[in-house]
Order: sequence, then structure tokens, then C-alpha cells
Amino acid sequence: MDGEDQTRSGADLVVAGAGLIGLSCALEAARSGLEVVVVDAGAGERASEVAAGMIAPVGEASWGEEALLGAALDSAARWPGFAERLEEETGEPVGYRRCGALHVGLDRDETAELRRMHDLHGELGLESEWLTAGACRKLEPGLGTDAAGGYVAAGEAEVDPRRVLAVLRIACRRAGAAIREGVVAGVRDDGSGRVAGIELADGSRIDSERVLLATGVRLGELAAAGTAPIRPVKGEVVRLRARPGEEPCERIIASERVYVVPRANGEVVVGATVEDRGFDTRVTAGGVHELLREAYRAVPEIAELELTGFAAGLRPTTPDNAPVIGRAGPEGLLVAGGHHRNGVLLAPFTAAAIGAMLQDEPVPEAVAALAPGRFAASGVAS
Ligand SMILES: Cc1cc2nc3c(=O)[nH]c(=O)nc-3n(C[C@H](O)[C@H](O)[C@H](O)COP(=O)(O)OP(=O)(O)OC[C@H]3O[C@@H](n4cnc5c(N)ncnc54)[C@H](O)[C@@H]3O)c2cc1C
Repeated sequence: MDGEDQTRSGADLVVAGAGLIGLSCALEAARSGLEVVVVDAGAGERASEVAAGMIAPVGEASWGEEALLGAALDSAARWPGFAERLEEETGEPVGYRRCGALHVGLDRDETAELRRMHDLHGELGLESEWLTAGACRKLEPGLGTDAAGGYVAAGEAEVDPRRVLAVLRIACRRAGAAIREGVVAGVRDDGSGRVAGIELADGSRIDSERVLLATGVRLGELAAAGTAPIRPVKGEVVRLRARPGEEPCERIIASERVYVVPRANGEVVVGATVEDRGFDTRVTAGGVHELLREAYRAVPEIAELELTGFAAGLRPTTPDNAPVIGRAGPEGLLVAGGHHRNGVLLAPFTAAAIGAMLQDEPVPEAVAALAPGRFAASGVAS
């Protein structure tokens, strides 16, 4: 802004990172009346731009991940209200859709593994119904002939993460938050163990007694040692487009190696590869080939769709696959990150948790279980 001192300014809360997590938390804080400044380095490594947008606590449930499951179920239940409020505040559609998901086995081994998953769902009390091959095909006539049975999770949903990002930016600004471009270089403290603000790479500063770090795969570079041991896990997606009336499926279709996510506007996202390759965001021929081959096995009609794009992103991943949400380092410093495959799903839960902490409210057990201290205590280095 003309005449504004860009080298030093102040806020009640600085949020580093404008992905789905940073923006959701910034909005929650701005709604509660805090003066919020969001600082973001740009879309280059923003996982939220690449995500498929599944809100799928059942499909993501796994053995020994109870803390994550609790957060996922809580957040999935919050999503309809989260989307509705965003739409009310901005007049912009978010496109949340409770479409359900059908997980199919494409050979005997895959089907046996799905059976085990389905049994786990029963133990955990999750909504999941086993279907024969015929029943699967009745539900989704576009399924390939390899489909040998599977389970349907009727409550799973999807949303376009890029649309949500755009609407969140509008909502944040309407609620009074400022969103600035810039690279946060470090968190400053006042010498007595309290946060004093942030320093940007261009040398400017923003004073604030509270700072939230939500910088995705770069969280470990700014947070206190051991509190955010996050590594990037690469994932590639392919984007397709169906003409009206030619949608290949109604629900999310998932097999062992691929998922197909149909959106109401005709976009179909095929994802996703999983690779430990450091900070590599190149889309590879092999990755695209694998996705299209496996998607074709599950839903052959995808071959008829228009190919509109592909992308690679980095999932911010902790050693136990669950996020870190809470206080970390000097008084006033919060972190929210490491959401791995579930950042879209967990955005409403994370925003509510950070909102409660900013109001100094006690946090529920589901949030306490995700405290960054769990890694510091176990001696894992970032
Ligand atoms: C292929 C793929 C598919 C996925 N599918 C799903 C899905 O279906 N459902 C689901 O729930 N999740 C999914 N995810 C996971 C989801 O995308 C992530 O968990 C989520 O987007 C993480 O959000 P975030 O805001 O923490 O990080 P990001 O979206 O990465 O945002 C971090 C932001 O911080 C900024 N930043 C970094 N360093 C700095 C700095 N020093 N200063 C200022 N800004 C900085 C970056 O520029 C970026 O804008 C998927 C991920 C991938 C890669």
C-alpha cells in the first residue's frame, strides 16, 4: 500500500503459509476478531493445489492410527457446516458433495486385502458395506470387468481444493485478514521466551505476540527442533474432463493403486502416486502411465475423457502420518502441519483446534493427541 512502512508492521496473529491449513486457521482467527496477517511464499510447493479433494475418513482408516481417525471423523462431520458457512460469507460455491466411495479389488489378493479393511471398519464402527462383484457393478455400471468385489463407504465426500482455496482467500479478506506474498525466514522471540513476530527473507518484520506456522512441507525449517519432523511424500495426479452425460462414475472409485474422483462440474481427478523423492515436483511419464493404466482397469470409460492436465505435489508427512497441531517453542508459537494425505479432510478440525487455542480454551483429547510434543518427547529430530 502507498505510504505504508513495509519494513515493519504489526498484527494480533501472523500466519505463515496460505495453503488450506493456514487459510482455514486464519479465517477462524479473523472471525473471532483478531487482526490477522497471512504471509505466503507462493503456489510452487502448495500441496493444497494438487490434492484430489477426497473427504474420506473410512477409506483412510488404518491399523494403529486411532488418533488420526478420531480427528478425521470429527472433521468429516464438520465439513458440511464449514462449506455452508464459507458459501454464506462469500456468495461463492464450494462444491462440497457427499458422493460416497466404492473401493474395489481388481484381483483376488486386492479383494482379500479389502476384506481385511472392511473387517477393520466393523471393529472401528465405521460405515462400510461389503458388496459382491455384481452388486458393485449395479452401483457403478462403468466398472471394469476385473472388479471382483469391494466395499462402499456411503458417507465419503469430495470437494475441489483449488476452489476451496479461492473461496477461503475471499472469506479471509472479508473477515479482515490481510494476505501478503513473502517468505518467512524465521520466528523472533523477545528474549524472555515469548514470540515477538516474524522476520521475512527481504529483511522486513511483522510484530506479533502470536505466530502460527502452517508452511506445509517446509514447516520443519521454521519450527523448534523436534516439533515438526516433516518429510515430503510426492504424489502425482492426472486431470480429465467428462462431457455432460458422459461421467464415468457417480462415486469415488478406488482400487489398491489408484482412485478416480468425479466432480459435479465434469472434472475427473485420477490419483495418486506415492513416492519418497525429497523436494521433487516433476511430473513423470512413468507416474502418468501408471495412473492412467490402473484407472483404466478400474473404470475403462476414462479412456474417452479429455486429458486436461497433470500435477505433482508434496504431502507434508510426519513419522506417524498424523498432523502436528498445537504449541511448539516459545510462548505464543503454534504449528499446524504434517497433514499428509488428509489436509483437505482435516482442515475444519484443524481450524477449530487452532481457534480454541487462540482463545485459550481447553483443547479436547482428540486435539491433545496431536500435540507436536509427542515427537520431541520420543527424541525424533526434525
Ligand atoms: C497428490 C496429492 C493428493 C492429495 N489428495 C488429498 C485428498 O484427496 N484429500 C485430502 O484430505 N488431502 C489430500 N492431499 C493432502 C493435502 O494436499 C495436504 O495434506 C494439504 O494440502 C496440506 O496443506 P497445508 O496448508 O499444510 O500445506 P500447503 O498446501 O503445501 O501450503 C503451505 C503453504 O506454505 C507456503 N510456505 C512454505 N514455506 C513458506 C515460508 N517460509 N514462508 C511463507 N510461506 C511459506 C507455501 O508456499 C504454501 O502456500 C493430497 C496431496 C497430494 C500431494
